[in-house]
Amino acid sequence: MFENPFDSAGNWYKGNIHTHSNNSDGELSPEKLSGWYKNHGYDFLVISDHDKLTDVSRLSDSTFLLINGIEFGVASSETETSYHLLALGPTKEIQLPEGIDVQGAIDLIRSQGAEVIVAHPYWSGLTINQLLPLQRAIGIEVFNTTCLTSIGKGISSVHWDDLLARGKQLLGFAVDDAHFHRPDHGQGWIMVKAPGLTKEDIMAGITEGCFYSTCGPEILDIQLHQDSIWVKCSEVTAINFMSDFSRGKRVQAENGDLLTEAEFKWGGKERYVRVECVDVAGRLAWSNPFFLK
Ligand SMILES: [Zn+2]
Ligand SMILES: [Zn+2]
Repeated sequence: MFENPFDSAGNWYKGNIHTHSNNSDGELSPEKLSGWYKNHGYDFLVISDHDKLTDVSRLSDSTFLLINGIEFGVASSETETSYHLLALGPTKEIQLPEGIDVQGAIDLIRSQGAEVIVAHPYWSGLTINQLLPLQRAIGIEVFNTTCLTSIGKGISSVHWDDLLARGKQLLGFAVDDAHFHRPDHGQGWIMVKAPGLTKEDIMAGITEGCFYSTCGPEILDIQLHQDSIWVKCSEVTAINFMSDFSRGKRVQAENGDLLTEAEFKWGGKERYVRVECVDVAGRLAWSNPFFLK
């Protein structure tokens, strides 16, 4: 079971955990990149250049935290698809040996003190058969701005539900994957509840699931009861309680009104429930899954 951020003490910190500088294929220098996020209300940023560690040690200050990241591409045995693995928090450069398979790559990255997220499964063309065997990744990207704005494949919620329904306890992350060649920044982020703005606290919040993801809507509270879940959020047009297979519920505003809360009582067969809030612009927020008995 992940932490419910609404039951945890601490402050909210806004962050983007996937972005590229001109140290790989991004447009901006690490300084300009972190400056953009710092000036747009973010508290932390992960610069995750392709296959190399960008030195961010001089970019952090007391109000803005940089965390190391690297994005690795790992070939899949299925034609034309590959895994992109987001390594969060490595302390030094990691080299993946030529020909390493995806599970070997995940384990090697973790052995270097980093956590692994499977990036943009929809954009990568990954299927449930390629995702289900993976062990020890903490989650997948449920939303990726650059994958949305480049080819329309930004939302991987079907992949997430397929995995959750089959018993995988995975977190969902909204990220920009910003390259800044075109507008692909400031559209997907996570809100982490943590005691303080330190690498240790933010990484703990991330790995424990003490966060929600959003493209705009705010989730204000989630309470889990014996047989129901209740959510309060900023004004939205619909609230989806997503569960396994054909279970779950959508609550929709009527007659031009807007919703700020909803409840779902489950029938008893649900394996998990997670919340999506959809605003008037069609932007989503995603809670992490709650696993039910
Ligand atoms: Zn990628
Ligand atoms: Zn990327």
